[in-house]
Amino acid sequence: NGIVAIVGRPNVGKSTIFNRFIGERLSIVEDTPGVTRDRIYGKGDWLTKDFRVIDTGGIQLLDQPFQEEIKAQVEIAMEEADVIVFVVSGKEGITNDDEYIANMLKRQTKPVVLAVNKIDDSSKIENIYEFYNLGLGDPHAVSGVHGIGIGDVLDEVIGLFPTKKREDYEGYIKFACIGRPNVGKSSIVNAILNEERVIVSDIEGTTRDAIDTPFTKDGEDYVIIDTAGIRKRGKVYENIEKYSVLRAMSAIERCDVVLFVIDGEKGILEQDKHVAGYAHEAGKPIIIVYNKWDTVEKDDKTMNKVKEKIRDEFIYLSYAPIVFVSAKTKQRIHDLLPMIHDVYRFSQLRIATNVLNEVIMDAQMMTPAPAINGKRCKILYSTQVSVAPPTFVLSVNDPELLHFSYKRYLENRLREAFGFDGSPIRIIARAKG
Ligand code: GDP
Repeated sequence: NGIVAIVGRPNVGKSTIFNRFIGERLSIVEDTPGVTRDRIYGKGDWLTKDFRVIDTGGIQLLDQPFQEEIKAQVEIAMEEADVIVFVVSGKEGITNDDEYIANMLKRQTKPVVLAVNKIDDSSKIENIYEFYNLGLGDPHAVSGVHGIGIGDVLDEVIGLFPTKKREDYEGYIKFACIGRPNVGKSSIVNAILNEERVIVSDIEGTTRDAIDTPFTKDGEDYVIIDTAGIRKRGKVYENIEKYSVLRAMSAIERCDVVLFVIDGEKGILEQDKHVAGYAHEAGKPIIIVYNKWDTVEKDDKTMNKVKEKIRDEFIYLSYAPIVFVSAKTKQRIHDLLPMIHDVYRFSQLRIATNVLNEVIMDAQMMTPAPAINGKRCKILYSTQVSVAPPTFVLSVNDPELLHFSYKRYLENRLREAFGFDGSPIRIIARAKG
């Protein structure tokens, strides 16, 4: 389970190789409206190993000279990845830009795999030898377009992943603040760590990830997972949206609970929707944290108005509790940990099969599924197949007949019966076997 980043000058075929690495897999959940698919981050697997891939070429700096851009790419790769794949083109041979990148890569510590792309047939194989001159070890011949040699590169990549796994803090509730730059994520993290009298733990025998902070409060163990901007400041790429989305995605994957932070001073912006959409699709419990509440001029109706607006803008997050805080005045900061604790518990909730069936059957009796072309979906049996997110499989006469609106109706009944506050729920229909 490691992270591989792809670097290289423009037009060598980074995105083609990226697509080969992640394969043509389909997302298990529906796309959330309003969320653009950034093709810079994906999941792949090879020889029973899962890994994540970053195409650093997708994170472009506008109006920056090539040198700045490539520097940012390599820095991102060094920060985020375990192994770097350096892509060059066997068609053009070594260029000055390739040499520039090679020199940067030699001055850092992450292992590098050299992939010579555009070797589309065996007659071109000699073209790879000159790349020994880059001083980065054996060049691998690949053709991204034809899918040749990709497996060899992945073999080497996987062999270079660190054997020591990242500390996964079992038994800890891992949470991350995500959101646009400057919404106040690090201020909230600092407010929690400094004001809440938490005890920052040192876990013995683990290589503690310097970017995560484990701590204990009221007998419960938590870890704050770092996201964009909290760790390093002042990098040229820090405020690029795609980069902050990338950092957010990797934090979302690693955490149990997402604090989705909105800047109350600026209100809701289009960019906010991207990160929120990822958290939702990842199936993570979400708390909407409306920060900088101190800056909002308000009367007794303001909070409800803002709540309505949030519900309108994030229709798919209807299950997420909303809290109005100020990292500056510390207003309601002390509500955050109890909320995190609660939504985490709900995401882990397991419902006994007999109780679940009673609720679903009652719901069906009260309101049967609407008929589609004269046929009705009939639920025969339900089971909860997993937690985080709670996932329910319904055995039905015909899965095609389970209409979206009826699914939502069932979800609402489940929430009335069991809560599941803050947690997404998945409902899957299967034909009775
Ligand atoms: P991040 O990029 O999301 O981590 O944001 P920061 O925590 O660095 O905050 C960005 C700016 O907003 C800083 O100038 C903070 O002092 C300011 N800020 C953060 N939280 C609050 C708040 O609750 N109220 C006010 N008035 N300012 C805040």
